[in-house]
Amino acid sequence: MNTQSKQDVLIVGSMAFDDLTLPSGVFPDVVGGSATYCAMAASLFAPARLVAVVGSDFPSRVLEELRARGIDTRGIEHADGKTFRWAGRYADNLASRETLKTELNVFADFRPKLPPEYRDSTFILLGNIQPELQLEVLEQVRAPQFVAADTMNFWIDSERPALERVLKRINALVINDEELRQLSGEHNIRRGAERVLGLGPERLIVKRGEYGAMLFDAEGIFFVPAFPLEDEQDPTGAGDTFAGALMGRLAELGRVDALTTRQALLSASTVASFCVEGVGTTRLGSLKLGEVKQRLGELRGLLHLE
Ligand code: AMP
Repeated sequence: MNTQSKQDVLIVGSMAFDDLTLPSGVFPDVVGGSATYCAMAASLFAPARLVAVVGSDFPSRVLEELRARGIDTRGIEHADGKTFRWAGRYADNLASRETLKTELNVFADFRPKLPPEYRDSTFILLGNIQPELQLEVLEQVRAPQFVAADTMNFWIDSERPALERVLKRINALVINDEELRQLSGEHNIRRGAERVLGLGPERLIVKRGEYGAMLFDAEGIFFVPAFPLEDEQDPTGAGDTFAGALMGRLAELGRVDALTTRQALLSASTVASFCVEGVGTTRLGSLKLGEVKQRLGELRGLLHLE
């Protein structure tokens, strides 16, 4: 697809309080949620528009901080009750985690409602929420041009028909390798990718944590490494950060083709690496574009052979 100039990115997803048990300690009430990470990452490159729900306990300070980054928060619904809460515990090597608690709270009755000003959005990122709600967002956008979606094991298991309808309406699916195996029923990533591309999206991006990410599309396969970090603090939200940065960079470039997608993947990997360097959104919150550009250069250096 072709558009003229920098576009906004419309993001729907969760906003949450996370209770994180990390090797470095226990961190309660950390502001998180898929939409929060996606929007913070996307806003490094392009204006972001958020659609989500928070409860009456959600601090207005956080919303002000988001607005200060150029994130449009008019699509955030303020509901009576408690904000969505998720608790997770990581293994000592941070490579795996278990969900200890998911309290939907105000998220349970959430029906995304786009403010009229959002309906002209062209770049859409459907963060990890119920597939039916992802479809409801698409219904409200006048002429979406590039739609990417994330999902998770829970929806693959319990909402497969709705998820398959989502897959038919998106341009790119961004999932991790476990989710790909579950969705495709194939252990082999390449065969699994072929199956998923057969379900609808033109591009599939498979996130593989510290081993980087792979893109599958009509032009072939592309690999982007993860930036090798010396100090990993908290991988929570790294996948959402990756997807948000990918869409933000594509919206900034204003054009999605084989080359810009590959360029945006390098930015996505770079920004996601910063996310892991702090607990919750702390590192993303202080991140400057100059730092991203410098690390992007270092990442490119890792791939250069001369
Ligand atoms: P990631 O580490 O990229 O998988 O993202 C973690 C974020 O997703 C956390 O901030 C959680 O609040 C949020 N999250 C966890 N479970 C869910 C869920 N079922 N629906 C929506 N968001 C969730």
